[in-house]
Amino acid sequence: MAISSTVIRFIQNELNERGHAAGDVDGRLGADSEGALRRALRPRRAELPDDWEAWPRTKLLTGYVQLRCRDEGVNPGTIDGLWGSQTDYAVNVIRERLQNDLVAPNFRDNEELDPSRPHPWPHQRQSEVEAFFGAVGKHQTMLELPYRHRLAWDRNVELTRFSCHEKVHDSLSRILTRVLDHYGPERIVELRLDLFGGCLNVRKKKGGSTYSMHAWGVAVDYDPGNNRFEWDWRQAGFARPEYDAWWAAWEDEGWTSLGRARNYDWMHIQAPHL
Ligand SMILES: [Zn+2]
Repeated sequence: MAISSTVIRFIQNELNERGHAAGDVDGRLGADSEGALRRALRPRRAELPDDWEAWPRTKLLTGYVQLRCRDEGVNPGTIDGLWGSQTDYAVNVIRERLQNDLVAPNFRDNEELDPSRPHPWPHQRQSEVEAFFGAVGKHQTMLELPYRHRLAWDRNVELTRFSCHEKVHDSLSRILTRVLDHYGPERIVELRLDLFGGCLNVRKKKGGSTYSMHAWGVAVDYDPGNNRFEWDWRQAGFARPEYDAWWAAWEDEGWTSLGRARNYDWMHIQAPHL
């Protein structure tokens, strides 16, 4: 599996942003890139195999990519400087996360989505989100929850409501009411559908200049402990069949699960589409 010039440009840009002077962002691994990679890797030699200084440029680049993926919580496999499918997948996940320009491989074909599914929401492009929802952190309202939630990171804290954008309020209320009707209170706790991981959070994407969908209060995270950012459908709890009705409730309202659409970040559900 070859390393694409897109990935090389992504890393050259990263190296430049971190002050390692990689020179032109041209997608070619030249002497400037090599020097930058060596400068970036040297302080991290303890995380690398002993022979790393003898590596050719492609291995240096791969080793750096693997470390950066691990920094971002996306498992790149062994840090060995060898480009394989796991490293390739991981770097695409972090590119999507850091740059918001390209996406990880499709998990689910669009054809699988019900064509009659309503799409009342804008595209997740910042300009469209802003045009539809306004400025980040504004137009918030309290959603009274049909069933009690608990904070995922401190389950002793119970929530009866949370803040969301006023334009998604009614939709969220309908979704959670349907979830309650379908599963009932006990099954909701068993399936951890009450573990709230956050909605409104005005922040930019890590390392990027664009805002997270959470900045408008139009994305919700559930059960992050069982649906970690880097996990795919084989690990993520929400990928299991007992959650089919959960997803139907969201998708019938036009919401998008990153897990179901892109096979990562299964905790995350957003109104704007991809
Ligand atoms: Zn999220």
